[in-house]
Amino acid sequence: MSLLRAHAKELLEFDLSECQLRQFDALTELLLDWNQRMNLTGITDPSEIVVKHYLDALSLARVVPRFDSLGLIDVGTGAGFPGLPLAIAFPQLRATLLDSTRKKLHFIEHASEALGLANVQTLHARAEDAGRSGRHRERYDIVVARAVAKMPALMEYTLPLARLDGQVIAMRGTSAYEDTNEAAKAIDLLGGELFTIEEVRLPTLDNPRYLAAIDKIRPTPRRFPRSAGIPSRQPII
Ligand code: SAM
Repeated sequence: MSLLRAHAKELLEFDLSECQLRQFDALTELLLDWNQRMNLTGITDPSEIVVKHYLDALSLARVVPRFDSLGLIDVGTGAGFPGLPLAIAFPQLRATLLDSTRKKLHFIEHASEALGLANVQTLHARAEDAGRSGRHRERYDIVVARAVAKMPALMEYTLPLARLDGQVIAMRGTSAYEDTNEAAKAIDLLGGELFTIEEVRLPTLDNPRYLAAIDKIRPTPRRFPRSAGIPSRQPII
């Protein structure tokens, strides 16, 4: 846990409390336990979980220093990444964790209850459907996503959910610049503007990770997102 304690402070610029460190420990135990029965993560070494799931998620604080009091949606959250670590680190954050796979959301619901996280809600939906529904369209201050889709389709999943003046942050690997170039047309058409691409280096990992932050500067035209499945089959490029 000292790995998490030390490096979280570098990323967050504040100390995680003892209670928060215990919540991360408990999450690791639950993840490893449930992972024996369902496919939640390919990472099973606890210190790798700290780096690749927890610190990677907390690196979002490089772009948004205080998540407190914001409404965030994590699109394609899987077993809760990056949403769950953010909800632990920022208790005032209102986190909605969306995925189209029901059983992964069941894990998140169980873990949130076991950890006493009152700021996590799950949403079982396709991102495209959520983006067309009045309850979710243009409702979120911050939209985050990791390892969900190629960047042009991802923009169609995420930008409709961001409120005007809100932000989408796509967590990308080494091809972040090419990915973002490829999505230039989608970003513009969907009402976004590239704000920054931030390089993040995490302990023990050779390759940097990148946070592509896109500002929502105009409302998304009503015709987007298109129906479920279309953004990935016919991406805006
Ligand atoms: N974000 C998590 C992480 O980084 O560990 C999970 C990544 S997993 C590779 C991709 C997840 O995105 C899956 O759980 C999948 O169900 C979800 N997903 C993909 N396309 C989606 C869509 N259009 N709407 C909702 N969820 C989607």
